[in-house]
Amino acid sequence: MKPTTITIHNTANEKSSAANERAWLTNPSNKVQASYHIVIDEREAIECLPLNENAWHAGDGSGITSGNRTSIGIEICESGNYAKTIDNAVTLIAQMLKERGWGIDRLRRHWDWSRKVCPRLMYDAGTWSGWYAFKAAVQGRLTEMNKGESGVKLDKANVKVNGKDVKDGVIIGGSVYVPLRGVSEALGAAITWDNKTKTATIKTK
Ligand SMILES: [Zn+2]
Repeated sequence: MKPTTITIHNTANEKSSAANERAWLTNPSNKVQASYHIVIDEREAIECLPLNENAWHAGDGSGITSGNRTSIGIEICESGNYAKTIDNAVTLIAQMLKERGWGIDRLRRHWDWSRKVCPRLMYDAGTWSGWYAFKAAVQGRLTEMNKGESGVKLDKANVKVNGKDVKDGVIIGGSVYVPLRGVSEALGAAITWDNKTKTATIKTK
């Protein structure tokens, strides 16, 4: 498979962990034709299938444009600390999008392929508000990740006040910038910050 999207599911099993779900795939008593690439819970994410192999998770047959043929299936567990699980899923999926150069427009619900109410914990009686919140959270984390990396690399500047080092000096456009608090305190001055008016005030003794 050459995946073009990522599809989100809930396991629909409140007691099952990621390890349980992974074990079920190869349990000899499992006669269900269903599979997925990754399952995630509060503790871990487990890759069950290579991401370039088809999994059977979208419920929309085997056509060339089907979710089953084009999408990476991720099962979000419902067991344990669900808020933590969701937080883990947000990080994992943001990372996967980033690695592929994809945006959140690449995310799908199981619902999008075959109208199954899945991921069911994001359904919210048909409003899908949980789904939109989830996508917004992924977007937020993706933005954070991208910011972390695209941040301009600054040249460090060593700053000394009367022989004392002031931390975090940098050179921007030929000028040296240093946190005002560090330099004020090194000079023995008191500094206050008024967040309402965004004003720093320095008073010497
Ligand atoms: Zn599903």
